[in-house]
Amino acid sequence: MSFTKNCLHFIDGQFVESEDGKRFTNVNPATEEEIGWVAEGGKREIDRAVEAARRALKGEWGRYSIRDRIAVVRRIGDLILERKEEFARLESLDTGKPYTLSLNLDIPRAAYNFHFFADYLHSVGTESYQMDAGQLHYAIRRPIGVVGLINPWNLPLLLLTWKMAPALAMGNTVVAKPAELTPMTATLLAEVIKEAGVPDGVVNVVHGFGPNSAGSFLTEHPDVNAISFTGETHTGKIIMAAASKSLKRLSFELGGKNPYIIFEDANLDEVIETTIQSSFSNQGEVCLAGSRIYVQRPIYDQFLERFVERTKQLIVGDPFDPKTNVGALISKEHLERVNGYLDIARNEGRILLGGKRPEGMEKGYYLEPTIVVDLPEQCRVVKEEVFGPVASILPFDTEEEVIARANATEYGLSATIWTNDLRRAHRVAHQIEAGVIWINTWFLRDLRTPFGGMKHSGIGREGGAHSVEFYSELTNITVKL
Ligand code: NAD
Repeated sequence: MSFTKNCLHFIDGQFVESEDGKRFTNVNPATEEEIGWVAEGGKREIDRAVEAARRALKGEWGRYSIRDRIAVVRRIGDLILERKEEFARLESLDTGKPYTLSLNLDIPRAAYNFHFFADYLHSVGTESYQMDAGQLHYAIRRPIGVVGLINPWNLPLLLLTWKMAPALAMGNTVVAKPAELTPMTATLLAEVIKEAGVPDGVVNVVHGFGPNSAGSFLTEHPDVNAISFTGETHTGKIIMAAASKSLKRLSFELGGKNPYIIFEDANLDEVIETTIQSSFSNQGEVCLAGSRIYVQRPIYDQFLERFVERTKQLIVGDPFDPKTNVGALISKEHLERVNGYLDIARNEGRILLGGKRPEGMEKGYYLEPTIVVDLPEQCRVVKEEVFGPVASILPFDTEEEVIARANATEYGLSATIWTNDLRRAHRVAHQIEAGVIWINTWFLRDLRTPFGGMKHSGIGREGGAHSVEFYSELTNITVKL
């Protein structure tokens, strides 16, 4: 499918090029064809966007009632749904993910982020404490100010809106820096923001790169009050150092190497179907992917046989073919990185299935869904985030052993436990070091729940009350009558 979109910045309600005219090329990872150019922002664009966002805090937006804010945040969600096919087409062109996935998951969820936080705002309150007679404390909640939103390429619109919706609901203004590889849906979102009637300067989108570019200028800017970042752990460390100069509030959703534990009493039919999703959906480019699959030894062979058979049925190919299950990886560099891990897997273990470009596909950054076995626990493929359609299967014997192995990582984002023994499920969940744990399911999300990672997988939690907390500032007022 041919479709192009050039991406301009959105600053103070206007679509603009960079002052120095710099642009970069956007490539469709499924065809390797150019699909447009992107304005490359620098210090000047970030400065202008932050100035506009700061001005907007004191303008019409600052005088919006809660009902006005609820209405406009809701309207953004409505407009995304009205244009969902257009959003889904752009998301798949940019990322290489199947159009059916964009249309049925990424885009509706992006709209729901706005609808959810519009609804949630109705019930946001604060604390009040009475001391002795005539002594009362109460807290008021205010916007934190200008918030910088920095996002990765794997779930571009879903993750941008996951931050933008609560930021706007709480009355902040934002400067977003989308991933350089996936600028399109953020640009379309800016059109929707304008159409929804959001006052100029409340939402700004500046395209560009990370280091010494729009990303780092945003994190260093003294007039930005907070940064919400999703991306690699290494980038998080750099952003934390940069943001420390002006003591910004930070929320980090970082990488993961998530243990996925299957006990011998699990329901294998459910396990197989869900493990196909947790390993290969979105080409495995999911921070929550169950990328270390520990299977209890008595069912190891049976699991492997069924998992291989089911994986063979997956169709890799054109993201716009409705039959496609697995699309293209995001870029040439990323495919090379994943192939580097497969070289390690070949040397230290065994590739049981896949591990190569699908036959007959000359163009596009495709990789067959890959199953790896016989890896030593210390192998880099078991320890590091591969972020591709690569499932490592590892046998284990006892509960104690698998807990220790699951926790032997610097990451702590999510974990999955499969067992029909309720007490064991909870016992294990209480010992796994992860911010999000699923029992007998995967990726089941409720936006009210705390979301985020421990250890090197993140700082802070977002979702429901946790997002409200991050995107607002509390002042306690004490009265003596
Ligand atoms: P990345 O860290 O390379 O880039 C993310 C964003 O940060 C991009 O917009 C990039 O331009 C920007 N950036 C890069 N260097 C910067 C700098 N020095 N200063 C400011 N901004 C900078 O990550 P990626 O490769 O785009 O995304 C994949 C990573 O994201 C994986 O590690 C994945 O696990 C993680 N991720 C985590 C979650 C979560 O919820 N925990 C969700 C999705 C993805």
